[in-house]
Amino acid sequence: MRILIFGPNGSGKGTQSAHLVKHFGLAHVESGGIFRANIKGGTELGKKAKAYIDQGELVPDSITIPMVIDRLQQDDCAKGWILDGFPRTPAQSEALIDALQVADSPLDVVITIDLDRGICADRLMGRRTCPNGHPNNTAIDAIAPKEVDGKLVCWKCGAEVTVRSDDVDMGAIDQRHDIYFDEEGGTLGGVAVVEKWAADKGNVKVIHVDGAGDIESIRGNIMSQLN
Ligand SMILES: [Zn+2]
Repeated sequence: MRILIFGPNGSGKGTQSAHLVKHFGLAHVESGGIFRANIKGGTELGKKAKAYIDQGELVPDSITIPMVIDRLQQDDCAKGWILDGFPRTPAQSEALIDALQVADSPLDVVITIDLDRGICADRLMGRRTCPNGHPNNTAIDAIAPKEVDGKLVCWKCGAEVTVRSDDVDMGAIDQRHDIYFDEEGGTLGGVAVVEKWAADKGNVKVIHVDGAGDIESIRGNIMSQLN
């Protein structure tokens, strides 16, 4: 099974992807991981990408698309894959569709996790780090840290939790959400391009799930729609 998964940052997309990877034995193809592998491996595309990343700039599509296609053609992807975190923009969606067709790498399923932008931002801003690795989030009741003697402590082990500075960068969160929600071009521009293509093609399953529930109910919703 070849899956493309969409969802705004903070929608729980990574968690659901990890489950699908495990359940179906898929290769997890994630844009950040592709960059890291190419940079570490010293590939030509990796060197070019690094120059942009070092300057704090977005890596252009002319570098990202070939990296993604190359990754999807590696051996571990033969058993199926899930592409997570790419494409982000309508232009990237168009380019990915073209490249998948040229590479004869068909897509079976498109999953979109829908969640309100404000809730996503609250969840991203609410992340707290436990020194023992337990997930904590002030915006999610089930894993909210507790206040003890004026300090926030892990709901599970009681260790004091801290804030990671890159988790509370509202400017960076907004920048990513501006691209995803595409408020100028119309709702969910990058998703819309892929879904229109899927509808025309006819044999690609398109699934939407509500990201507002807990992890288990979202997982159940995805699994029931896949079957
Ligand atoms: Zn803990």
